[in-house]
Parts: sequence; structure tokens; C-alpha cells
Amino acid sequence: MSASRHPALLSTDPELASFVAAEEVLQAQTLRLIPSENYVSAAVLEASGTVLQNKYSEGYPGRRYYEGQQNIDRVEALAIERAKGLFGVDHANVQPYSGSPANLAVYLAFAKPGDTVMGMALPMGGHLTHGWGVSATGSWFRGVQYGVRADTGLIDYDAVRDLALAERPKLIFCGGTALPRTIDFAAFAEIAREAGSILVADVAHIAGLIAGGAHPSPVDHVDVVSTTTHKTLRGPRGAMLMCREEHAKAIDKAVFPGLQGGPHNQTTAGIAVALHEAAQPSFTAYAHQVVANAKALTAALLQNGFDLVSGGTDNHLILIDLTGKDVPGKIAAKALDRAGIVVNYNTVPFDPRKPFDPSGVRIGTPSLTSRGLSTEHMPLVADWIARSVDAAAKGDEQALAAIRAEVTDLMAAFPAPGLPLS
Ligand SMILES: *Cc1c(COP(=O)(O)O)cnc(C)c1O
Repeated sequence: MSASRHPALLSTDPELASFVAAEEVLQAQTLRLIPSENYVSAAVLEASGTVLQNKYSEGYPGRRYYEGQQNIDRVEALAIERAKGLFGVDHANVQPYSGSPANLAVYLAFAKPGDTVMGMALPMGGHLTHGWGVSATGSWFRGVQYGVRADTGLIDYDAVRDLALAERPKLIFCGGTALPRTIDFAAFAEIAREAGSILVADVAHIAGLIAGGAHPSPVDHVDVVSTTTHKTLRGPRGAMLMCREEHAKAIDKAVFPGLQGGPHNQTTAGIAVALHEAAQPSFTAYAHQVVANAKALTAALLQNGFDLVSGGTDNHLILIDLTGKDVPGKIAAKALDRAGIVVNYNTVPFDPRKPFDPSGVRIGTPSLTSRGLSTEHMPLVADWIARSVDAAAKGDEQALAAIRAEVTDLMAAFPAPGLPLS
């Protein structure tokens, strides 16, 4: 199918080329609902695959430890300028290899091993790197965790304040990986001020919504903004740290030489292109469509009798609570995968089940929005999910295969950038 798309790869390494071709088909044919995933543009794909790959560039533009940086400096400076313009920040570091090392750099900049740090608990929707035990951040630092209210599924800001004042953490992280609701950055800022803590907004999931004006920005409220570039922001796999001028030196020193060596220049180029795309009116439309689609999907799922954590969504992400259904999250997720609908199983707050076999399924609308699906398609998507969960409960493989055929049929009408058309 895509034999001609990567001719050099095909002739050098046909085995590997066949894996890539199969992945292209999979991404083209399936309905991808993992909220941290997306489809990058053809331009981002091209920029990420350039000869910039061949350069070592330890340091920062104009201050490198290697020669021959005439072009690399311009690439990185452009990415930095675009990040500053798009998010309205004084300073941007575009070198972190991914979201997790970006967060580790924040610890390195502001804390010492053993210091107390505060974040949302992983099973409540937080991220591993916010001081959770199995992460380096939870073993090298003393992590204390907040969560959501059992009755509303919303962050309990009074409990956050009580914990912060009792523990006086060096760092407070807000943001997470399974938060369907708007984060009140101003409320976190007031708490961090009272506790004397550095406040970090980890907007990895929602950076594209912020850039497109579909979620409030943390920039005026927090000390540091950490984000991946590959989720709703729709860039290559990478990350950025943004801050006011007063923290610029500490952040830059922590990323390099504190934590990393040479930056991935081909990724920096892809980030620059993604930031350029994110500044266009079409991206604003995309960001608002992501949210509109999530709200329409929420309404349709509720109509199909699903329980949703917090009762719905304000952003791109929906957490389905299957506690009241006959199938737990993992079995549902695997059945959905056989039906051509790609999701991930996830804990729900106060989950009675174990993390490797939890009660929830996490879904989101960035990828389907990038392919052009809109609110009118969401009742069909909810219907497919309901039928798949039903089929999983009954062990009805035929029903799953029938749904898969319907999914493939619809997705063929919505080509994605960088993927084969047929
Ligand atoms: C995805 C994510 C990260 C980590 O990003 P990686 O690139 O996977 O290391 C960090 N924080 C949050 C909130 C995330 O959602």
C-alpha cells in the first residue's frame, strides 16, 4: 500500500518498512480515541525527518559548545520566538526530550532531593512525574498528593489548601492526564502564594486547547508552565518549559547541562512548524471543535447509559466509569480495540479495582477532530462504544467485527495528514 512512500527505507530494510506501512494502515482505518494522541501535519512529519538529525548542538542559540550551528541556531531561535508569541510568555525552553524529563528539570531547578513536593495522585488523574511513588520524582522527593471529591469528581480546592499549608511543599503541580474539567489556575496560584511554593502548571494534555483559546491559560498565574508538544498541540514528540524572566536561567541550566546533552534538533524543527500552525485561525477552529466534539460525545454517552467521572467534560477528555457495567476497563478497552476503536483503560477516582485492571476507559476527541469528524458524528461514535461494551459483556466477536467494518468505512472518508489515502 505505502511501498512508494518511503522508498529508501523499503529497499534498505523491508522488514522495518513493513511495520511502518502496517502502522500507517492501522492509523488510517481505526477511530483513535486516546486523548494524548493526535495526527501531526505532513509539514511537521517532514520537519521531524530532516538532516537536522545529524547535528550536535549542546548549549543554546548563540552559546553552543559545538561549531557549525549557523542554521541550527536559527531553527531553535524560531521555535523559541513562536512559543513565546503563541503562549505570551517571557521565556521558553524547547529542548526537553519529552514531558517527563521536562518535569524532572523543574525539580532540578527548584528543589533538592528529599524536599516535599505536591501533585495530584495518579489514580485521581495526576501524572507519575508529579511525585508519585513509582516515579523517580516520588522516590527522590517526598511526594504528597491531593485528589478529587468523591461526590463531584472535581478537584477539592479546600483540601488542596489544607494540605499545602500543612506541608509547605517546595513545588506544587497542577494539571494531569485524566482531568475532564477546567483547572482553576487562579485558585492554585492563591494557594501556592499562601504556602510559599513554586507553582507549576503541567498542561501537557491541554496545551493545544490553550493555544487555540479553548481553555484558560495558566501563564499569568503560575511560575512555570510545562507541556508536551505532541498531544492536543499536534507537534512532534517533545516538550517545552515556559516561565517568567526571573526563572529563565534556572530552567535553562536545569535542562542543559543539568539533565540533558544535545537537543534533538529535528524535533525542535517540528515544534517550530507545529507552533506556526497553532498560530493560524484554522487551529483556533480545531481547538474549539475538539471541545465541541467532546461535549457532543459526552451527551451521547450519557444517553447510552454510561457513567462519566465528574458527569461530563469541559475539554478534550472523557473518563468513562464502567463500575456499574458487567465489564471492567481492560476487557472493554481490548474489545473496543478489536472493534477498531482505540482507547486506553484507566483508573477512576476511588477505583475499587487495581491499576492494571481498573474500572475506567479514558477517551478523547483530538485525533478524530484532526481528521475532520464533527458533532454530528458523535452519536454514532457513542453508539459504537455502547455496542462494543455490550458485545464484550456477551463475548460476541461477530458484533465487534461488524462494528470494525463500520468504523473502517467511515474513517476512509476522513483522510489524515501523512497517511495513505486508501
Ligand atoms: C503526557 C504527560 C506527561 C509526560 O509526557 P511524556 O512525553 O510521555 O514523558 C507529563 N505530564 C502530563 C500531565 C502528561 O499528560
